[in-house]
Amino acid sequence: MRLIVLGPPGAGKGTQAQRLVERYSIPQLSTGEMLRVAVAAGTEIGREAKAIMDRGELVPDDVVNHIVSDRIDQEDCRRGFILDGFPRTVAQAEALTAMLEQKGVKLDAVIELKVDQAALIERMEKRVADTLSVGGMVRSDDNSDTFARRLDEYRRKTVPLLNYYRRRGELIEVDGMQGMDVVTRDIASVLTKVASD
Ligand code: AMP
Repeated sequence: MRLIVLGPPGAGKGTQAQRLVERYSIPQLSTGEMLRVAVAAGTEIGREAKAIMDRGELVPDDVVNHIVSDRIDQEDCRRGFILDGFPRTVAQAEALTAMLEQKGVKLDAVIELKVDQAALIERMEKRVADTLSVGGMVRSDDNSDTFARRLDEYRRKTVPLLNYYRRRGELIEVDGMQGMDVVTRDIASVLTKVASD
């Protein structure tokens, strides 16, 4: 199963992707997580990405395209993968289409978690409070100013991507405003249908 999970920051992509990992035993490829690892490790990519991420802006397309292409080539992606946070721009989607064609594999579905954007700031604040209450580390880009910027980047650069996949007949919309378990169930049922088509 090769999937993309799309949706604005705070829509629950990471949680749902994690559940898909368990269900299908395929890895979650989160570009945000890979970049955070690079930042923590102080690699060249990490140094380039840090300031951009702290501003809530998008890292250049060619940087993330390379990271994803290399990751997909690894052995554990042979049976499939879940892309979380990639692609984020039409240029990244086009690059992904070309890279999958070149690798001779096909996407099964693109899932859009549809959420009321006004509810997202509240969700982010709750995520921060929950993390702090268990003594966890809060992401440096989870604060009101940066979050607003991330949402703005999503509206300007990622929303056009939805049309790209809609036109290709690959977009499946799921109501992300429901409880997490209901969203998981809805995704499972659309994927069962995809698998049987
Ligand atoms: P995320 O964990 O998906 O919310 O991503 C956190 C941050 O990493 C984003 O705000 C961007 O700065 C950067 N990032 C993650 N994925 C991408 C991507 N596909 N393209 C550009 N920047 C990205």
